[in-house]
Amino acid sequence: MNRRDEILAEMGLAPIWKLREKQVPVETPVVEAPVVEGWIPLKAEVSGCIKCGLHKTRTQTVFGVGDEKAEWMLIGEAPGAEEDRLGDPFVGQAGKLLDNMLASIGLARGRNVYIANVLKCRPPGNRNPAPEEVEKCSPYLLRQIELIGPKLIVAMGRFAAQTLLDTGNSISSLRGRVHSYAGVPLIVTYHPAYLLRTLEDKAKAWEDLLFARRTMAQLGDRERAAPPDRPPG
Ligand code: URA
Repeated sequence: MNRRDEILAEMGLAPIWKLREKQVPVETPVVEAPVVEGWIPLKAEVSGCIKCGLHKTRTQTVFGVGDEKAEWMLIGEAPGAEEDRLGDPFVGQAGKLLDNMLASIGLARGRNVYIANVLKCRPPGNRNPAPEEVEKCSPYLLRQIELIGPKLIVAMGRFAAQTLLDTGNSISSLRGRVHSYAGVPLIVTYHPAYLLRTLEDKAKAWEDLLFARRTMAQLGDRERAAPPDRPPG
C-alpha cells in the first residue's frame, strides 16, 4: 500500500482504484436528477398538443429555452414566423434586441435566464392570441414556472402583462411596480418588437431593466448581474 492509500485507509476511504474495481450490482436503482423529472413529460405534452386550433397551422411548438433552474424568467407573447420555423423563442430581430437588453444588465440567454411565451404555438399571421388559446395554453406556462421556480418574472409587452396580471391596464400604468403571478414577483416592460418600432421608448425599457435588477438584488440573486455600462443598443 502506498502512502496515499494508507492515508485514505486511515480516513476509512477506499483508494480510487479499489472503487473502480468494484462490481456494480445489476439491480442498482437508477437515480434520476430531479430537474429532469417533470420536464420530459411536459415537453412531450406540449410538442403533441392539439388543445386549440393553432396546432393545425404551426410548424412546431416553441416550448421555451434557457436555464431550467433560472432565477430570471422572461415571458413574451407567442412565437412569430422565425420562432415557428426554428423552435426557439425570440430568435428573430426582436430576439437580437432582447439578447442586447439582457447583456446590458449582465445577463445572457440560458445563464440564470429562462425565456418562454404565453402561447407555445404561432398564431397565423402573427395575430393576437385568442382568449381560448390562452386558456388552453396557460397551464403549460404555469407548470414551467413551477419547475423553474424563478425569483422574478419579467413580462414583456402588453399582451403578456395583461394576460398574466389578468388586467386591461396599459403597460405604462403597470411599469415600475412589482406585481405577482403564480406567487412569483413580476415586473412589466415593453416588448422588444415594440421597441424596434418605437425607439423613443427604449430609454423606458432601460429603466425597467434597472428596476428589475434592483428588485432581483433585493430578492437576493445567486449570480449578481454586472453593473450597467450602457443602455441596450
Ligand atoms: N415575440 C414574442 O412574444 N415571442 C417570441 O418568441 C418572438 C416574438
